Amino acid sequence: MNRLPLRVVTPEKIAWEGYVDSLTVPAWEGSLGILPGHAPLLAQLREGVARARSGDEERLLAISGGFVEVFDGKASLFAETAELAEEIDAERARQAAERAKKALKSPAADVSDEQAAAALRRAMVRLRVAELSRPRGARKEVRTS
Ligand code: ATP
Repeated sequence: MNRLPLRVVTPEKIAWEGYVDSLTVPAWEGSLGILPGHAPLLAQLREGVARARSGDEERLLAISGGFVEVFDGKASLFAETAELAEEIDAERARQAAERAKKALKSPAADVSDEQAAAALRRAMVRLRVAELSRPRGARKEVRTS
């Protein structure tokens, strides 16, 4: 069966590479699904969850904005940060969310509202990915807005 070569790249590293049956990414216009053989594409991404499915396996990645490109039959996801579910430190994300909420409540000179809101969105996406990757039944709902 046809598979889509995928590379998830951040300024720090190749976060993941392999072949997938489908990829779903958080585009600005909404969730964007990409299958093998997709026409060339360039789309901007917001913070959110990317899902790379290979057979029965679904890999979840927390993405903090970037671009997805399909060219020459290959998909590349360029992200500012990207973490696989198993790499996420949920406690760190909880603390980041708390800090961001505090900064939004009592603005400080060193953190703009925009920065704090973006930090909160990153943290909530990380918590959502950590939660979604837990076994069913052990999940609790994490709201991202
Ligand atoms: P923090 O305040 O906890 O650093 P942040 O949102 O400011 O969070 P980023 O600037 O988005 O962090 O990311 C910096 C680096 O740390 C990136 O390599 C990112 O993948 C990693 N990272 C951030 N938060 C987490 C987390 N909760 N678990 C694992 N890696 C993380």
